[in-house]
Formats: sequence, C-alpha cells, structure tokens
Amino acid sequence: MLGILPNESIYSYLIRYCLKDGYPTLTSALKYYIGSTSKQWSAQFPSFISQVSAFSGIPFQQLLFEHSVYPVYRAFLSKGVANKVEELLQIGSSLNVESKMSLVANRLQASGELKYCPLCVQDDLENYAWEYWHIQHQLPGVIACVAHQCKLIVFQINRKRLLLPPTEKNIHLSASDAAIKLSTLSESLFELNDFILRSEVLNNVYRYRLVELGLATNNSSIRIKVTQWREQLKQFWEPVSNDPQISEILNKHKCWQYPANLFYGKDKAFHPLKHLLVIGHLFETFDDFIAQYRLVEKGYEPTTVIEDKTHDNNGDDKPDDKIIALLRAGYSLRKASSKCDVSIGYAKKLAQINGIAIDRRVQFINEPERRDIWRKLFIGQTTENIADTMGISVGAVEQILSCYPELVQLRKKIRYFNKRQKHRQNLIKSIHKYTTRKGIRADCSASYIWLYKHDHHWLYLTLPEAIPRQKRYLSKEK
Ligand SMILES: [Zn+2]
Repeated sequence: MLGILPNESIYSYLIRYCLKDGYPTLTSALKYYIGSTSKQWSAQFPSFISQVSAFSGIPFQQLLFEHSVYPVYRAFLSKGVANKVEELLQIGSSLNVESKMSLVANRLQASGELKYCPLCVQDDLENYAWEYWHIQHQLPGVIACVAHQCKLIVFQINRKRLLLPPTEKNIHLSASDAAIKLSTLSESLFELNDFILRSEVLNNVYRYRLVELGLATNNSSIRIKVTQWREQLKQFWEPVSNDPQISEILNKHKCWQYPANLFYGKDKAFHPLKHLLVIGHLFETFDDFIAQYRLVEKGYEPTTVIEDKTHDNNGDDKPDDKIIALLRAGYSLRKASSKCDVSIGYAKKLAQINGIAIDRRVQFINEPERRDIWRKLFIGQTTENIADTMGISVGAVEQILSCYPELVQLRKKIRYFNKRQKHRQNLIKSIHKYTTRKGIRADCSASYIWLYKHDHHWLYLTLPEAIPRQKRYLSKEK
C-alpha cells in the first residue's frame, strides 16, 4: 500500500498509486481502480475522491480537507451550500459542484494548469524519492512557494493527462513580497480546514477595517469610499497584476463593482481570490485578520474601547512597565517577579504578551500536531478540550499557546467578549421583567455591577430612563 505524502494532491497520489502498482500501462491501472480512463483528472474538484478513498483506505473527509483545494472555497460558503457541495463531491459529480458554488457565474474557473516549486521538487526527491504535486501550490491566489520564497512555475496541462511535475533542475526566481503575502494568506485559510467565515461577520470585519483605514466614514452609518478603495487595492496588488486571474479581477472594465460588490447579494458566493485580495490589502497578516474576525463575531464594534477592561482577571494594577523593563534588561523571570512582588506566572505572561524571548521549546510534540493545536486555539477551543481530544496534558497545550503571544491576547479578548455577551443577555432578560433601574438592578445584580464597571456606555444606553428625583418622591407617595 502506497501512502499519500504530506500535502499531496489527490491527482498526484492517484498517478503515483497507479505507477507503483506494476500495471502495464497507466490506463489499465486507472480502469481497474477508478473504472474509467477519461475523467478530468487534474480538475480542481475531482469527481473520483470516493474511489480513491475506497482503494487507499484514506477517509473521504481526509482527502477532501487535506488533499484538495476545497477548504479555501468552503471558508466562504454558507453551511447549507457547503453540505450540498460535499454530497455532490462524494457521489462524484464535479460539474454540478462548480455551479453550486456559483464559480461559473464568477467566471474565474481555474484554467488547465498546475503549479509547482522547483526547489520543493528537489527536496521531495531527496526526502521521499518521488516528485509530486503539492496541494498548497494549487490553491487560489498561491503564486509563490511560501517555504522557499520563490515563484511557482506554471505547467499547462490537459486535464485528461496524468503527469507528475518535471524533475529537471529549473532556475527559481525569487517572488515579490506581494506574491508571498497573497500565497501565505491562501495557505493559512487552507490550514483552518473546516472553519467557515460567516458572510455577515465578514462584511462587518471589512467595514470596520475600512473605517480604521479612512476608506469609509462612520457617522450614523458606515459609508464606503468606493473609488478610493478600489484605486488603493489595485495599487497594492500592482506587483502581482500580471497574473491572469488577479488581473481579471482587478482590471476588468465591467467589473467596476469589485470590491464593493462583496457586500451585496447575501447568498452569492464569490471566488475566494476576490476575498483574499481584499483581506491582504486591509490586513497586515492573516492572523490580524482572523483575530479581528473572532472579535467581530463576539460583538466587537469599532467604537468599543476594550484595552483596559481586559485586566479584570489580574486584579488591580500591577507594575507591568517595571517588570517589562527588567526582563528586557535581561533579568530572569524569577528575579523580575520577586523584585516587583508578582508571581512568576504573571511575569511570564507579560513576557509573552510583549514578545520578550523566553524558552519556547515544546518537547515531544511534532510539527503537524503543533499546527493542529495552533488551529484549535485560534478558533477558540478551550485548552482543556484540546488536551482531551489530543491526548496530551493541558500544560503542553498551554506551553504551545505561550509560543504565540498574539494568540494569548486574542483569546483574552474573546473571553472578555464572551463575558460581556453573557452579562448583556442577563440584563436584557431583566429589562423584560422590570421597568425601573432599581428593579432591574436587584434582579441581576452581578451582571449589573459587571456592566457598570466594564460596559458603562452600553448599560446606560440600554437601561430605561432614570426616574427624576421629584417623580421618585411622587411614586413613593402613591
Ligand atoms: Zn518550494
């Protein structure tokens, strides 16, 4: 049995499987394994995943989510559409799949081309004795190898043919920053696996960021400066605008609605590349984007001030600045914490949040597992839950978490928003029961006090008008 290689595309695996098996020709092997010799073998959404799953024993879900480009498309689909698409893929109907995702309407169907990195091919030959197609390189918007920072080579191929990437030594050209950024974005999205970006949240993420960047005004409602946005977006991606797909999106005359049209048509799915170009333009990194997404999902609005309110776990003011200064000056965690009279754990947390180098090794956990834990932490699973499902200790998960200071902050903010949501809901329930502030306060005093401390503005906007003193007196008399 031939195993599938890391990040290998299904197409690539099928070819190697057939080659390895000693059939006189590839065609006769295909006939045996797939029952056909004339499928669209290199199509983006293969119609033969179930067959590959059957003869290899690799679960269908694993092939779909780790070895096909589907996750990047799925991220922008509604749950309902995603379920239908997955059903179609399972029964092997690839034509309907593309129309289900409205890719036909988007007119950005991938042409018959496959991409490869000449340096990856050399590495793979050395490590696995095989050259193979990497699924990462086939993702929408991936035009550079993130690992080697070089341009991918585009290989025109008839979809009916079965070929592995060329192995002759090719010159590699270094890729532009824009190319690497776009490719990294697409790969990061792929790594999130089965995470769906809900369109109503995504819309607000874009809107709020446009406000922050001055590309939209926010008075009573958000108004986007469409022309200016479009111009800046085009300029930003100028270095990669010779790529046919990117140029198609940015320069098409009739497509003037882009990027603003991403906001309209709730059920419409747009090609992932259209979103990736917007995300890459608006955000520094994918992590920034997804952090913002998680916050908006939890109820963050651009006017909310949250900075100092997340401190509630730590009690009163701690001499943070002094600890940071000591750590930066090379004091050990132990020394810095005892000097400032805080716990070692607290000093360590500060070091992490502020990116001060501490011991970051996590023994005994391999890279794919680490990535998996990272992903789970990112989408907000609890450390206990992760430890449980992965059969490792909570301590190990926490140690990995500590390697990503930005993740620590994100999770802290998410916890804050979760709390805020809970207390807001409690208050609203009480408002339905009582009409005076006093009554409401008595009904949910814990939430009332929390909101008073942390969410003052919202609390007073939401509470019924206070009864003026005079009237208070009158109502007592009655
Ligand atoms: Zn490479």
